[in-house]
Amino acid sequence: MNHSARAYDLLIVGGGVCGMTAAIYAARANLSVCILEKEVCGGLVNWTNTVENVPSYPRIHGEELMDKCREHVESLGVEIQEVDGVEVVDFGGRIKEVTTSEGEVYQGKAVIVATGRRPIPFPVKTDFPRVHYCSVCDGAPYKGKDVIVMGGGNSGFDESLFLLNLGVKSVHIVEVFPRCIAAASTQEKARQSGKIKVSTSTKLAEVEALPGGKGRVRLESAINHETRVEEVDGIFCFIGQTPNTGIFQGILDLDGGYIKTNADMETNLPGVFAAGDVIVKRYRQITTAMADGTIAALQAERYIRG
Ligand SMILES: Cc1cc2nc3c(=O)[nH]c(=O)nc-3n(C[C@H](O)[C@H](O)[C@H](O)COP(=O)(O)OP(=O)(O)OC[C@H]3O[C@@H](n4cnc5c(N)ncnc54)[C@H](O)[C@@H]3O)c2cc1C
Repeated sequence: MNHSARAYDLLIVGGGVCGMTAAIYAARANLSVCILEKEVCGGLVNWTNTVENVPSYPRIHGEELMDKCREHVESLGVEIQEVDGVEVVDFGGRIKEVTTSEGEVYQGKAVIVATGRRPIPFPVKTDFPRVHYCSVCDGAPYKGKDVIVMGGGNSGFDESLFLLNLGVKSVHIVEVFPRCIAAASTQEKARQSGKIKVSTSTKLAEVEALPGGKGRVRLESAINHETRVEEVDGIFCFIGQTPNTGIFQGILDLDGGYIKTNADMETNLPGVFAAGDVIVKRYRQITTAMADGTIAALQAERYIRG
């Protein structure tokens, strides 16, 4: 037992929308709660330009939504620790213990893991430095310029439309599969813009940095392997996400890197719950993350109160 550790009823690892929702339920049940977040509370939603599917907010910037959520959490007396990240976990005993990369130890009678996901890195080895994962963060310098967006899912299309709002001259969406899976309405908006070209069955095979800052991209047909070359100012990569579960390997049951839970958000270990994008499930949305966080917190309360 570590005597310098800070002790709470409930520890929540990850302060995205799921972790914050869990914190609201737990605090309202009079549990002492600490959220441990390795960056800024709000998680992925902070980087979403326009959220249009959260009931009561027909259209809101993701960061604004998360600021409101954080205010709500703080108003209930939840402690938020923005640390460098939880690096070690000891879930074996009755008291669960986590250690941050700064070496601080936190203890809880129960833990909710809500560590979400992060973008899959750009898969092509290159010396071209202008590869990005977030148009909200990095799009502004591309006003009047030409960019490639890798990935024809919702993220790829949403981010392409956002880049056009920033004044980007043209966007070329490159999708390796024969069709794009983004919502039909978003694809239609992209088509109507007249500035977004879409190439399906196309692989981004190579990128080379050119003198002057541009990149030369070699695109390859996934059907007949014909290649073509294009010059671009920047590349934005939205080819999917991978779960933040490295620290739980060998401790929690995983499937494809995602944490396995039952419908009550219980993991294989008593007192350890997992919720949100990090768990095995089909739909990963703000509302589903909120729902998971709710269930995890209510179950954690039951567990703690015996
Ligand atoms: C580009 C994009 C656009 C989207 N748009 C929408 C949309 O319009 N509407 C919608 O409903 N959904 C949208 N989604 C999905 C939505 O963002 C997710 O479903 C939601 O963010 C999941 O919340 P979460 O709390 O489970 O995970 P996250 O938001 O990923 O939060 C997890 C948090 O855990 C933290 N963390 C990770 N590891 C550690 C660690 N070791 N220690 C401490 N903290 C850690 C992370 O820093 C992060 O803050 C979008 C997703 C993407 C990628």
